[in-house]
Amino acid sequence: MYDIGIDVGGTGITAGIVDRNCKIVARKTIATDRELTAKAISKQLVKLARELLAESGISERRVHSIGVGVPGTANRKTGRIEYANNLPNCQGNIRQLLQGQTSKKVYFENDANAAAWGEYLCFKKKPDSFVMVTLGTGVGGGIIMNGKLVRGINYAAAELGHMTIRYDGIPCNCGRRGCLEAYASAEALIAQSREAMEKKKKSLLWELCDGNPDKINGQLVFDAVRAGDKTAIRVVEEYAEYLSEGLANIVNFLQPELLCIGGGISRSGDILVPLVREKMRNKIYSRYSTENTKLVVAKLDNDAGIIGAAKLFLCRE
Ligand SMILES: [Zn+2]
Repeated sequence: MYDIGIDVGGTGITAGIVDRNCKIVARKTIATDRELTAKAISKQLVKLARELLAESGISERRVHSIGVGVPGTANRKTGRIEYANNLPNCQGNIRQLLQGQTSKKVYFENDANAAAWGEYLCFKKKPDSFVMVTLGTGVGGGIIMNGKLVRGINYAAAELGHMTIRYDGIPCNCGRRGCLEAYASAEALIAQSREAMEKKKKSLLWELCDGNPDKINGQLVFDAVRAGDKTAIRVVEEYAEYLSEGLANIVNFLQPELLCIGGGISRSGDILVPLVREKMRNKIYSRYSTENTKLVVAKLDNDAGIIGAAKLFLCRE
């Protein structure tokens, strides 16, 4: 049997067919149309899943469940997506709309929670407590305690990107100031790099972006660090400092067995993690304990959201 996982992102929607061993055997991506209503999106998702099955030659009979990871708060009680910047017209009961089109059981969940669930499932020995912070366009989070996602009374828990790390700091998309997301998202890293470049015209960053700061992305900043560019090194040092504030807060608050960094930025985990670990050390209340939280890099990259969504049926309520 297989399960279908669908990750609804800000720019693309990817559906994957996932086998019993949490391996994606086929996938298909379409562009996200941010203007669509819940009804239109639900039709689009079911069509995408059916096309994927047809293309991969897997019969619908062999599908056990369908899981969807969505941005914003996925209210499992009402079936609605609440507060999703990327999908402003998607107010209907999306779970019911999806369920109305298929005999398979449909699950839906916040995308960062689904990604955390996917990463968690890929551990042979499951940690008792697990936190994932996703460093992408925004900063998402997922918390798993004793094999259950921590969702809160209104399913809006684990918004780890919206903890304050600087009182009265720079404005965040959520309306507050000084959130981790405003300092540690990929967008933030890009903004920090552009600002630093403007002051250092000789930085390698200029060369790497062909003189056009619009072309700066996270990968490029870390490439400059690898090449020894002093401006990029300073930017990433500062970025790691911000990130370490947020991660140390999570450790002090929950003391999870594993703290995992995912999302696009985590692809440069070889540079980032040692830096962040160093900067976190003195911020951790339990630094004298014999046992402490392990900081690791996510293994599944973008697949985490698809695998996690597909396997939502394994998550206890
Ligand atoms: Zn915020």
